[in-house]
Amino acid sequence: MTSRPLILVVEDEELMRRVLHVALRSQGYEVEEAATGNQALLKVRARTPDAIILDLGLPDMDGAQVASYVREEHETPIIVLSARGEEQHQIRALDAGANDYVTKPFREGELMARIRAALRSANHVPNRSELRVGDLRIDVLQRRVFLRNAEVVLTPTEFKLLHLLASEAGRVLSHSQLLREVWGPSHVEELQYLRVYMKQLRQKIEEDPSQPQRLLTTPGVGYRLARRT
Ligand code: CA
Repeated sequence: MTSRPLILVVEDEELMRRVLHVALRSQGYEVEEAATGNQALLKVRARTPDAIILDLGLPDMDGAQVASYVREEHETPIIVLSARGEEQHQIRALDAGANDYVTKPFREGELMARIRAALRSANHVPNRSELRVGDLRIDVLQRRVFLRNAEVVLTPTEFKLLHLLASEAGRVLSHSQLLREVWGPSHVEELQYLRVYMKQLRQKIEEDPSQPQRLLTTPGVGYRLARRT
């Protein structure tokens, strides 16, 4: 990327918008602002940003709706900002296609790290035949998994689940996303399936399954595979 990445800040609170604007500018990003969902969609249409920071509580529409409208036409990474206690909204936003979320109040350094990660993954062309996440290597074609070069034998469902998490490494996938992708749309409520399989996977790829370092739980939301271990 030769020009400065453009970040669209969608936030109705003016003070928060200004704080984000200043912080992003100081990191060398170009910044656009929108105070409502409609403004955001108009801005995205006029000039597609490289990433979007999206507040969930907007005056005219739910942030998850904004995410799903953007997702219909763009792959732009979306990082959701939400207040504590808005887990249901976070889940909806992730299901609608948001890539990541940060809970308010957040540390600036944390948000900047998430933005860098989102920009990196957007520029990353996946090598579909093999995925490497930390010391895990997934041979997608042969459906085999290696942990520090030792093969880990997985069932087909365990493989599907790990492959899905690995292809979005670092990103939280919601329970219903995982259930829908692995078991199908009629199983999105079967949280117990997911728990059982995550437990099995942890037994196979964690040093200490009770203290997972790779397959991490985001309480009430979902799971993610740590990018590095
Ligand atoms: Ca708000």
